[in-house]
Amino acid sequence: MKTVLVADDDELLRELVVSILEGAGYRTLVAPDGAEAWDLLQSQGADMAVLDLNMPRLNGWELTQRIRSDPRWQAMPVLMLTIRALVEDQISGYERGADDYLTKPFDTTMLLARLRVLERRIPT
Ligand SMILES: [Mg+2]
Repeated sequence: MKTVLVADDDELLRELVVSILEGAGYRTLVAPDGAEAWDLLQSQGADMAVLDLNMPRLNGWELTQRIRSDPRWQAMPVLMLTIRALVEDQISGYERGADDYLTKPFDTTMLLARLRVLERRIPT
C-alpha cells in the first residue's frame, strides 16, 4: 500500500482528497499546511505527495523545493493542486519540481488517473 502525503489548508478539499485516496486504497498522511506536512514527512515518510499550492507557513512550491533538496525525497512524485489556472503558474510549478499539476475543482477520476501515472515513477 502506497502512502500519500496530502497537504491543503482548505479543510473540505483536504477531506475530499483523503476520502478519494483512501477509497482507492492509498494510505494518507494529512496536514493543514506545508510546515506540518514537512514534519510528517520527516517522521513517517511517504511515497507520493498531493500538495496545495496556496498554504500558510510553507506553500506548495516551498515545500516541493524542500522535498527536492532532500536526498530521501528528491525522487518522490509530487502532484500540485491549485486554483490558479494560468499557464505561467503551471510552468513555474514544473520548474520548481512538481511532477504534475491539477487545477481545482478537479474530477475525482482525473485525480486518481494522474496519481496512477505518478505511482509508476516511485523509486523502488
Ligand atoms: Mg490553499
